[in-house]
Amino acid sequence: MQALTIGTANKKSFEKDDRKKLEAKILQSARTNRLKRGNGEDSTRTRKFELLGVSIDNVTMGDALDSVMQSLNQFQVRTKAKIFSFVNADCVNLYTKDKKYRNILNSNYRVFADGVGVRIAAKWAGEIIKDNVNGTDLFPLLCEKLCAEKKRVFLYGAKPQVVKAVAQRLNSEFPGLKVVGYQDGYQNSDNPEMICTAINRSEADIVFVALGAPRQEKWIAANQHLLNVKAVMGVGGLFDFYSGAVSRAPFWLRKHSLEWVWRLIQQPQDKARRYLIGNPVFLIRVFNSAFLSKIPTQFEKWLAIQNQKEDSRTNKIFRIQ
Ligand code: UDP
Repeated sequence: MQALTIGTANKKSFEKDDRKKLEAKILQSARTNRLKRGNGEDSTRTRKFELLGVSIDNVTMGDALDSVMQSLNQFQVRTKAKIFSFVNADCVNLYTKDKKYRNILNSNYRVFADGVGVRIAAKWAGEIIKDNVNGTDLFPLLCEKLCAEKKRVFLYGAKPQVVKAVAQRLNSEFPGLKVVGYQDGYQNSDNPEMICTAINRSEADIVFVALGAPRQEKWIAANQHLLNVKAVMGVGGLFDFYSGAVSRAPFWLRKHSLEWVWRLIQQPQDKARRYLIGNPVFLIRVFNSAFLSKIPTQFEKWLAIQNQKEDSRTNKIFRIQ
């Protein structure tokens, strides 16, 4: 009995020691991470997965925000701006047919997984998406952080009255935020040098480009070398929502991942093709890539195993004889 008590006591002190060691290890790794952050490295936890030829970042909304903010606080040559993009089901449909767009996305700094379509596709490919990191939800959270750190923001894209309304709303909602300039996406669109000069003159830290996908990604890639900023983010139709020109889906629809239904009701002519044809095409595409295209490989694997079994059986027979 005594021996047993001593044994249990020993075991307990052993467990205590182990726990202490483990705690020390966690503390040490947290310290290392803090040091990394202090050195200006992007220490946000990102996990990449591939979806039909594009590498996408699987991150939480918090990590996405940290990643943008860290890119603004790093010591870096401004002409090497970090590029952030979002990819939703429609973008996947577009990039599967557009190699240039695909290559641009793969060269971007971060590509965030936007919407339920990408979440389903990722799940079928064996990846559980941490968060729906879409521009509309990220934008106000990011502006709060940009405001706290007194960063300078430039807005480029959408209709003249829309981009102006976005600037006005930002100024009233985030009084400390420096909206240092804006430009609509139609005037002077054939003169990107002029637009880049205006952006550079404003000394913006970050530019939000709202020209729609893939136009904005192509514009950013083509003019990146002219821009003297730290980060550029392609935000699609975000300005239309933020200005109130197009209303966002009610919360219950968003909660059930049905925002696209609302967009379809709001802009039936623009969005019918995208959603009514695009959504089923997208699902067939990702289903095929995740399951059907793997059937021959699975069959080949099974065949190889059968051949191996057959070989070992033959070997045994020969050894016996
Ligand atoms: N847009 C623009 N210039 C153009 C074409 C489009 O500024 O030459 C704007 C348009 O006004 C809208 C946005 O780009 O604000 C595209 O919105 P959409 O919802 O189509 O983009 P998505 O989020 O689907 O990429």
